[in-house]
Amino acid sequence: MYSEVVDRIAAADDDAIAHRLRELEAKRREVEAETAVVLGELDRRKVYRVDGHASMWGLLRVSVGWSDRECKERMWVARLLERFCDAGEALLDTRASIANVTEIARAHANPRCGDEIEAVIGTLLNEAGRREFDDLKIIVRQWERQADSDGALKDTETNHANRNAHVITWNGVGQAAAQWGELDGLANQEVFDQFVQTEWLADWEATVAVHGDAACKSLMPRTDAQRRADAITRIFQTASSSPPGSRAPEPIVNVHIDHHTFADMMVVAELFPGRNVDPFEPPGGLVTDRRCATDTGHPVDPQTVFQLMVESYIRFVIHDEQGVPIRWGRKRRLFTGAARDAVMSQSCRCTHPGCRVRARRSQADHTTDYSRGGHTDPANGGPRCLRHNLLKNHGYATTRDPRGNWHTYRPDSSEIC
Ligand SMILES: [Zn+2]
Repeated sequence: MYSEVVDRIAAADDDAIAHRLRELEAKRREVEAETAVVLGELDRRKVYRVDGHASMWGLLRVSVGWSDRECKERMWVARLLERFCDAGEALLDTRASIANVTEIARAHANPRCGDEIEAVIGTLLNEAGRREFDDLKIIVRQWERQADSDGALKDTETNHANRNAHVITWNGVGQAAAQWGELDGLANQEVFDQFVQTEWLADWEATVAVHGDAACKSLMPRTDAQRRADAITRIFQTASSSPPGSRAPEPIVNVHIDHHTFADMMVVAELFPGRNVDPFEPPGGLVTDRRCATDTGHPVDPQTVFQLMVESYIRFVIHDEQGVPIRWGRKRRLFTGAARDAVMSQSCRCTHPGCRVRARRSQADHTTDYSRGGHTDPANGGPRCLRHNLLKNHGYATTRDPRGNWHTYRPDSSEIC
């Protein structure tokens, strides 16, 4: 009975409920692995033909009531597991989450480069076992961009050709929708983000003025959605109040790029001579060390980066093998200016596990506290949101391993994961 389950959970203590969640998730992963095997076998035997279905989707819609999205994602996973036993192991031994394996399966289903995933599948599955979904997604999309460079270039051109916009008011609702190619998209997004940030700061200051130390997001006068809408209105108002013919300031787009990708990009542009390729290096380099993305982690096509570079409103932050941008030797108490930018560029968001506060709304934090001898140096810094920066005063600690991954420990030294 459902009510018995409700009563049992309500009676359990916090640790027991958290433990039960992990148990249930382990079961889901095992079930997902077995479901993939069942789907693969049904597909191979073409069982769907018996009732006149053209593919597995027809059978699944009718016999198990799945949505088209479920049919698509489950079949992606079935095909991935059919080809790579290790992917099945990662699910069955509950190491990798369903979302992470599905993301790899999606890339595997990409008709233009899915076949080439064999070269990096081991690394991707390894990362799937220890990363949050958002981080794994960046790695997978980065690999896809690299493996499918012709397709990405074609997409870039097609997306620019298909640019479109509407501003309409109908039935009492005003609406705006626009799409651009990547180049204009990145520049416009930067302007939009700056306006949204201005609205956010105005709200935050107003909230602190009224509530003081008790100020928190839920007390802010507008929602994120309302601030985004007001930011668009402000952009239109600012544009209409500028004198005709006045020159707009060029937006600065931060692009974070590893030095291998940067060198490859310059070779393609014939600005650097060809570089020697290490015969033991996997094709395309180690996927996790490659990076060509905006502040928010959105992968950018190196071709677009090159165009941005030519148009000169780009700022490069080139990272070394550990993902640390630059060393700053001078001893300073606070991360400011370029040192602050370098700290913030080490993660797209607050480094506390599971937190989604963007780096630009976080504080540049000393990983090892200044009071405990930590240097004011980008290698000893990372973005932490207000809440999680304060948590460090309660015995929580953050470290960064040599591969550039962040770890957060509870006061009893156990890791949050
Ligand atoms: Zn946080």
